[in-house]
Amino acid sequence: MEINYDSAAALRALLEEQGLGMRKKFGQNFLINPNIRKKLADALEIGEGDEVWEVGPGLGAMTRELLDQGAHVRAFEIDPGFIGLLHKIFAGEKGFTLVEGDVLKTWPQEAPAPYLLGNLPYNIGAVLLANFIEEGRFFRRMIVTVQKEVARRMAAKPGGDDYSSFSVLIGSAYKVSPLMVIGGSSFYPAPRVDSQGIRLDLRIDIDPAARPLLFYPLVRQLFSSRRKTIKNNLQSFVSSRIMMAEAGPLDIVLPVLEQCGIKPEERAENLTIEKFAELAERLGKYDGLR
Ligand code: SAM
Repeated sequence: MEINYDSAAALRALLEEQGLGMRKKFGQNFLINPNIRKKLADALEIGEGDEVWEVGPGLGAMTRELLDQGAHVRAFEIDPGFIGLLHKIFAGEKGFTLVEGDVLKTWPQEAPAPYLLGNLPYNIGAVLLANFIEEGRFFRRMIVTVQKEVARRMAAKPGGDDYSSFSVLIGSAYKVSPLMVIGGSSFYPAPRVDSQGIRLDLRIDIDPAARPLLFYPLVRQLFSSRRKTIKNNLQSFVSSRIMMAEAGPLDIVLPVLEQCGIKPEERAENLTIEKFAELAERLGKYDGLR
């Protein structure tokens, strides 16, 4: 089945002919700009036979690019109408597998792949990426499209307002390279906000899978009240996790901060990823903490 993915009118007509509607709650915007589709697919740098996960294929515009490059695509789609149509569009294509349902629920059952591409639905993009990292599912490379402000948070460095627990989470596992900003007119229907492509390469200078156990919960806690000092936030964190009554939270917090060379009045937004890791590692040495 041939589809003109470059034309809003053609896509609208196809949906109408198939009796399908668009659902806002699934963040459905089709990328109708062929140059951007190609640039995103090329940025994945895949070769013949490579396994790629695609999140939210929609009507298959990016899927087509990937299959044309020889990839084996495992596509995760939630919309029952699109699922039916995708089966028709890619019928007989050996490299195509469809995983039906909510990707947040279906991905853990699927065999890992080295690459991921996704023009991510705005409402689950950040949650899904955080979920992969916290559950230890890493990709050699990901190319994703997200809202511009999410992209800014992903690439943020310590010291700015955009630096958040999400920045630390992403940067703890991936080298982040922002790609092109994509205006609303490149999509059908056109969203009001700009999007941005992002390239994520798995870090090779550290082993992201070997992060200390307390790393992710600690990062979340330290940013939960970002205007509070590290000492106060850390005190709450330790209090909620301490199992032995002999030591008070400050008996742990103050020496650990000193060992890490962090001033008690410092704020989470100024700590580097490696400082968070060091903190988590040193805290993890206390048997009474869980
Ligand atoms: N890839 C297409 C493109 O670039 O033109 C469509 C991208 S559209 C922004 C997002 C797609 O993700 C839609 O097809 C939508 O139905 C799907 N989607 C939304 N939430 C989902 C979820 N939780 N699990 C799987 N797919 C989802």
